[in-house]
Amino acid sequence: MKIWKILSPRTIVEEERPDNISAPTQAKVKITKVLLAYPEIRAFTGASGVRLPRVPGMFAVGVVTEAGEDCVKAEKNARVFINGTYACGECSACRRGNADGCLSPVVAGEDCDGFLRDFAVCEEAHLFPLPPSVSDNEALFTGVVSLCEGIVDKLDVPKGTHVAVVGAGVTGIILSQLLIYHQAVPILIDADEEKLSVAAKCGIYYTFKADEELMRNLNEVTGGRMAEGCVFTSFCGLADDLPFAITAKRGKVIYAGMEFPEMSVHLKKALDKELCVLGATRDYAQCAGAINLLVNKAVDFKPLTAEETNAADIPALFNAKAQLWEKEKRAPLTILDMI
Ligand SMILES: [Zn+2]
Repeated sequence: MKIWKILSPRTIVEEERPDNISAPTQAKVKITKVLLAYPEIRAFTGASGVRLPRVPGMFAVGVVTEAGEDCVKAEKNARVFINGTYACGECSACRRGNADGCLSPVVAGEDCDGFLRDFAVCEEAHLFPLPPSVSDNEALFTGVVSLCEGIVDKLDVPKGTHVAVVGAGVTGIILSQLLIYHQAVPILIDADEEKLSVAAKCGIYYTFKADEELMRNLNEVTGGRMAEGCVFTSFCGLADDLPFAITAKRGKVIYAGMEFPEMSVHLKKALDKELCVLGATRDYAQCAGAINLLVNKAVDFKPLTAEETNAADIPALFNAKAQLWEKEKRAPLTILDMI
């Protein structure tokens, strides 16, 4: 089987690797599409905290080509989303048999090899068959939807609550749509007007630029109460302690993302307001629920359009994306067609 591996910053190479089913609970999947987003480009450019070498690719869909004899749902020819986030099997929660409560879930493309490859051998438990009404391109976002559902659970806010979402990247836009689906009122904030206009096309009503008018705008929309909940999406480029300024007293602040950069905040601001500050990352227990949300069309992905390209020249593609990131600090989504 063929894999693409980032050996060192800006070097990605193709390798052959033997990989066959070694347990009856495993299935072999032909990878059909891989989502390339910011984490893959960060890895390729060798950003701080990134361990190399690694096979990138956090989110993928594919078709089962061979299923072990104990597989029940992963039948041959089934279209599947591969959940790249799974329980570590070693922490105290896992050892007690509570895999859903795993303390340090493992993420493909970060902690272990990802899905930029032609075939993958997976445990059946990591495969989620896709209903016909969910397209491959929609299914690639299952992991992000799962993370966002976990955030909504943690916010646990009553209907009609104002929730500020900081960062109008993919996570911020999907989360805002899910908040609307759960009848909360998201207020999406970003410095980039282009991203906010994409968000507006996804049906998000309150989109505010992070400028000197922000506090006045928030005051107006919330009737002076400010946001009762706030979610800060990692790598959004805004001040790490912005949530402390825009959240109501005794409100809940969640820092969320598949990974976090180094961050520092003025904690006193949060303490004076008696804020509850939480982290949300690597939520993997909600994939089935996430696919259900896709079936119910709870999220409109069309305005998030990712460019779709084939995998003919992966090094050139990664280099072009890295250049764009360095020049313009943009990492647009790419759906990589692997067939
Ligand atoms: Zn664990």
